Amino acid sequence: RFISFEGIDGAGKSSHLDAVAERWQRRGLEVVRTREPGGTPLAETLRDLVLHQGMDALTEALLIFAARRNHLQQCIAPALERGAVVLCDRFTDATFAYQGAGRGFDLAVLTTLESWVQRGPGGLRQPDLTLWFDLDPAVAAQRLVAARTPDRFERQDEAFFHRVRDGYRARFEAQPERFVRIDASQSRDQVAVQIAAMLAERGW
Ligand code: C5P
Repeated sequence: RFISFEGIDGAGKSSHLDAVAERWQRRGLEVVRTREPGGTPLAETLRDLVLHQGMDALTEALLIFAARRNHLQQCIAPALERGAVVLCDRFTDATFAYQGAGRGFDLAVLTTLESWVQRGPGGLRQPDLTLWFDLDPAVAAQRLVAARTPDRFERQDEAFFHRVRDGYRARFEAQPERFVRIDASQSRDQVAVQIAAMLAERGW
């Protein structure tokens, strides 16, 4: 099974990903924790360029999809084939939310790139489940303040994150069978309980 964790910066997805990974590892499952952009040496190099160099939206989208292709081929697909659980911090929904809704890049082009890059033997490769950590950008910004040095995306204004949030909502509404929305304004413990219940419902 392949699960992605999505949401705007500061919504808490990464710490909950760690918690799920630890729980399943304790049960003896092989868990592959990975992230996008990134997850392989090549894709991590591309991540570094995307996060720290200025570039236009098309260049950014092409680099992110190039990273995703490499990540799928070298990390995610082999892990799923050997029966591991893959937990991915962001995946293709982030591209639609950040590059598409956030930066205004053409969604039709992103859909074309998605269909090329994620094409696999059984059709379009998508996560089996996507947890969308939904949070008001003003609250997310407060949580991020003391956390770390912002990269070039985290320095964006609040309006940018409102657009990104709307972009996630559009994906959520278009593909409801794959998504679960998590109210990330709840306490960390409440969110953890909701996630555990939702995974248990699926027999996971
Ligand atoms: O989630 P993570 O902190 O690893 O993301 C790193 C940065 O890259 C974040 O600021 C995020 O907003 C940005 N990002 C992006 N477009 C993506 C994925 C991540 O702008 N498709």
